[in-house]
Order: sequence, then C-alpha cells, then structure tokens
Amino acid sequence: MIEIRGLTKVYGKGDKAATALSGLNLSIKKGEIFGVIGHSGAGKSTLIRCINLLERPTEGEIWVDGVELTKLNRGQLQEQRRKIGMIFQHFNLLSSATVYDNIAFPLRLTGSTRPDIDLKVKDLLALVGLEEHSDKYPAQLSGGQKQRVGVARALASDPDVLLCDEATSALDPQTTDSILRLLLDINKRFHLTIVLITHEMHVIQSICDRVAVIHGGGIVEEGEVTEVFLKP
Ligand code: ADP
Ligand code: ADP
Repeated sequence: MIEIRGLTKVYGKGDKAATALSGLNLSIKKGEIFGVIGHSGAGKSTLIRCINLLERPTEGEIWVDGVELTKLNRGQLQEQRRKIGMIFQHFNLLSSATVYDNIAFPLRLTGSTRPDIDLKVKDLLALVGLEEHSDKYPAQLSGGQKQRVGVARALASDPDVLLCDEATSALDPQTTDSILRLLLDINKRFHLTIVLITHEMHVIQSICDRVAVIHGGGIVEEGEVTEVFLKP
C-alpha cells in the first residue's frame, strides 16, 4: 500500500543544510494499522509531510497504492491528496465553522451536491457518535469530541489511507483510549490503512499491528509490535 525507498530529505543548503531523513525504507500493507514511533527530532513530521505531499523529498521514492508521489504534477498532487486523510494533534478545525460545516468542508471543495453532502455528513456524524453536536462550534466541544470531528472530516473524501500525526498526544488517557477504539473500529469496518506517528508507546501497543522505530532519520527496528517490544 505504502512503499518508501531510500527516502532522504535535506532542509536548506550548504552550511545550513540539515538532514532530517537519510535513506529511509518502509513498507506498509493495505488494511493494517502501522505505528511509527520515535523521539522528538527523529524525523517523524518530515516523514509524514513527505507522505502527504507537503514536502518534496530530496531523494527516494514514495509509492502509495501504485502511484509514485515524487513524479506527480500539480493537478495529480491535488487528486492524490484526497486519497490521504489526515488527523492532527491540535485537531486543526475551523473555529468559526460548526461541526457540520467542518466535516462538509472537503466535500464542498470537490463540488459534491447539497443532498450528497448532507447524506455523507450525517453518516459520518453517526460513525463518530456526534449526531447531537452537529450545530456546535469547536470551542463548545471537549478534546475527544474535537478529534472525532477531525476523524469524520478526514474520512469525508473516502481516503485509502488515514495518517495520524500525534493524534492523541493532546488528550487524557481515557479520551485517548476512546479515540483509539474509534480508529480500530474504522480500520476493521472499512479495511482502511492507518499510519500512526507517535512518541507514545501505549498508543502503539494498544492498536498497532506492526511498528517501526525511527531514529536519526532512518528506521532502526521494524516488525510485529510484540516482536519489537519484547526483545531483550
Ligand atoms: P515535533 O517535535 O512536535 O514533531 P518540531 O518541533 O520538530 O515538531 O517541528 C515543528 C515544525 O517546525 C515542523 O513543521 C518542522 O518542519 C519545523 N521545524 C522543525 N525543526 C526546524 C528547524 N530546525 N528549522 C526550521 N523549521 C523546523
Ligand atoms: P520529529 O517530528 O520526529 O520531531 P522532524 O521531522 O520535525 O522530527 O525533524 C527531524 C530533523 O529535521 C530535526 O533535526 C529538525 O530540526 C530538522 N528539521 C525539521 N524541519 C526542518 C525545517 N523546515 N528546516 C530545517 N530543519 C528541519
């Protein structure tokens, strides 16, 4: 599903050059929940920004569902971005828009009709358990509810992959567990590939099938969660 080969990202040039990723390889299968864990500065954000096409790799290839991302032109990039849903640590919701409008936002961008948008948003509200909160604004919601809106918005464009960037880092342990259960449910129901980037071991151990440890811009360990974390 996602195949990364020799991914290198260098920021800046000359004296100021900083290598964030160096020759990183990673292979993520369709339908799995894959965790990437590492300390601050390890290269997690850079990796995720390369997968969701916010950053151009310096070298290497990134294949998502048979498409090589580094070779796409502008129009193809827009198309490809819709296939990758994203949720964030700080939710990134539009504060002046209701829950409904936050979820409808990506659908309006693609020019869906009003009745189609309405059906889809109602489905998504039910999926994340926020039917009663459709007219509220983000400031009126708890952190967990805000992340549920984030999940619904990310799924609105029917992505093939859901990228989660420290998606539970701003939540308390109980709320974290409820969001992780929601992600697991979505993974099982839609066979959606989920990639979780985190510095929290608990997140990896509770829902991931496989894990990679990123350090110094490369993958230093990779395998089943039980294998990687039970090694002496
Ligand atoms: P985190 O550790 O929470 O993942 P960082 O603090 O590493 O986040 O990075 C936050 C943002 O700042 C990212 O978008 C990253 O690309 C950018 N950034 C990180 N380090 C530098 C740097 N040395 N120079 C410029 N931008 C940076
Ligand atoms: P993480 O998300 O694991 O904290 P990052 O990908 O943010 O790691 O950063 C990896 C390395 O790249 C760090 O040394 C960071 O300072 C550097 N870096 C990240 N973004 C930038 C940037 N925009 N400009 C320069 N250096 C950066």
